[in-house]
Amino acid sequence: MLKVKNLTRKYKNGSSFINAVDDITTNFQVGDFVFVLGQSGSGKSTLLNILCGLDTEIEGSVEIDGIDTSNFSKKEWAIYRNHYVGFVFQEYNLIEHLKVWENVALPLQFQGIGKSEAKIKAIEELDRVGLKKFAEKKPDQLSGGQAQRVAIARALVTNPKVIMADEPTGALDTELGKKIIGYLRKVSQDRIVVVVTHDEDLASEFASRTVRLADGKIIDDTGNLETHEKETKKLSFDRPKMKFSMMMKFARNNIFSRMFRSLATSSIVSIGYISIFLLTFMIMGINSSISDTIGMFLPEDQYQIYTVDNTEINPTDLFEISNMSIVENARYNVSERVTFESRFGVDVNVSLTPVPYDQALLTQDATLYGRLPQNETEILINVNTAAQIRGISQVDEDSFDYIFDLVKNSTLDLEYKNYSEFELESTENLGSYKIVGMVASTLMMDSVIYIDYEELLIMSEQIHDEVNYREIALLYLSTENEDDIEAFTVLLRDDYNIVVENFFSAITSTIENFMYNALKIFIGIAAISLVVSGILIGLVIYTSIIERIKEIGILTAIGAKQTNIVGIFLAESAMIGLLSSGIATLFALLLTRIINGLFSSFIEKPLSLLSSGLFDMTLLTPKIWVIGLVILFSVLYSMIAGLIPSLKASRLNAIKALRRE
Ligand code: ADP
Ligand code: MG
Repeated sequence: MLKVKNLTRKYKNGSSFINAVDDITTNFQVGDFVFVLGQSGSGKSTLLNILCGLDTEIEGSVEIDGIDTSNFSKKEWAIYRNHYVGFVFQEYNLIEHLKVWENVALPLQFQGIGKSEAKIKAIEELDRVGLKKFAEKKPDQLSGGQAQRVAIARALVTNPKVIMADEPTGALDTELGKKIIGYLRKVSQDRIVVVVTHDEDLASEFASRTVRLADGKIIDDTGNLETHEKETKKLSFDRPKMKFSMMMKFARNNIFSRMFRSLATSSIVSIGYISIFLLTFMIMGINSSISDTIGMFLPEDQYQIYTVDNTEINPTDLFEISNMSIVENARYNVSERVTFESRFGVDVNVSLTPVPYDQALLTQDATLYGRLPQNETEILINVNTAAQIRGISQVDEDSFDYIFDLVKNSTLDLEYKNYSEFELESTENLGSYKIVGMVASTLMMDSVIYIDYEELLIMSEQIHDEVNYREIALLYLSTENEDDIEAFTVLLRDDYNIVVENFFSAITSTIENFMYNALKIFIGIAAISLVVSGILIGLVIYTSIIERIKEIGILTAIGAKQTNIVGIFLAESAMIGLLSSGIATLFALLLTRIINGLFSSFIEKPLSLLSSGLFDMTLLTPKIWVIGLVILFSVLYSMIAGLIPSLKASRLNAIKALRRE
């Protein structure tokens, strides 16, 4: 039973109030087929809206099955509408983008009933109103009478105790109107059915009770208010829940029905993400290529020292420095170009440098064959030198073993050929050395021989008549502790006027600096594009809400909670986020291919030829995790952007929304 006591609904009218419903006390019982009559503006719709919980700004009380509703939350009202009330509107108010059966199944799905079960029930209900064969059609393919029967099926599908119909025949001709009312009377046996109309003829033909309103007051009621039947069923509040897939369906329909707009929005939003992708790919590509390349030439623990005024380092100073405990190894950076005769009698030029003091000093990625030299008569050669000794022109990874076997333990006669003006002036015999090891890597391009440091100094003296010390000496430090290294740097600067520099970190920090600045610009661009796309998404969702205001009203009337409405529009935002990051991924990968292709043919290949394969770099390196992060971010960010309009949508007044045409 529905009971209202001293019910008043005030509307502000300028500075005064008008009472749309004015101090009404009555009740409605199961079996009642009540017609509410009255002129336009007499308060019929207002009363109905209050009875089904769409309008709760009331004075007085509404009691449902003995339960006072004054403390009902919005959620409880939603549950009440969904489980206990079926609402039939004058304008049918079907949701255009859903099929007929989906419209009917909607209230069931709000109850959390699965799609297939809901479909079966919906089609049964459609069968009862004679429209089973229209189940798969869209509402716009129906006539007015058919649409109203679908609306009635939707109102009845949850088997509610209360049916409220606000001028259900208003848009139909008399014949059709009678059919509809006849059907409602049939179902009124075990329910409360309240029909609002101003059609007196219909009322006198069908009503079991008529309530007449004027200026918000009951002026006539044919019902016997004294017969109070005992209520059996109590309200039990299962929470209506909207399945995730339902929200997705609404969002998908919204997006598809505005395909052009969705694509246009997503494309604009995707521009920002494309730039983020390309910049990240580039930074990653360059960063890894560069530190790989540097690492090949510069050992990380190698420090160069030079005097502040660029003069020669005093050998005594160097001796002192090299004996400090932090210094593991120190020496002048001496190297010579010498010559040997290859197997075919051809002179080969090669660089001589000191033996690396340990294997870490071998170029990165290089493999050591044999062993390091242990005395001044032994040498280590690199694979290019070995190939030249044997006159082999083709060197690849598979041939390293074979090449080393050819030169292993053989002796090499080194000479220094002194040319002046392209004339050979003299030849210096430098001695014979035994090859005990070979370093090999596909990246090597120079021919190098590693020789004992002292031996190299003697050789250098022999060639130039004195040791041609360069101003740069190399130190290898025994620590990686930055504070110790800093203290050492300060000591050398203050006591010896010597600057210590780590080329590896100098270069990498320069690059890092550059990357950091690039990143700052990139963050700026990204931030601007994100703000723009955030606003855009918000606007699109807002527009979508404006266009669907009526739909929101319908959903609310048939029992959708606020969170369901928020969910629908958040899902739509999320889909825009997914769509834009999807578009961005596609374009970024496509552009990556194109840009890498251009870079490879115009820059990388020519440079690679010039540097005998050493320059090997991919400009853009796509990373799956970057793509994943961006997609995730995009979806979340779109949802955040869509949150405010979505919340706004959920707070829309259902009655106003339904009035909107
Ligand atoms: P009926 O359905 O009988 O035609 P309504 O219940 O729609 O009448 O309206 C009753 C009275 O309340 C009317 O005077 C109407 O102008 C007023 N009214 C209804 N809704 C509003 C509103 N949202 N704001 C102000 N006045 C309203
Ligand atoms: Mg009305």
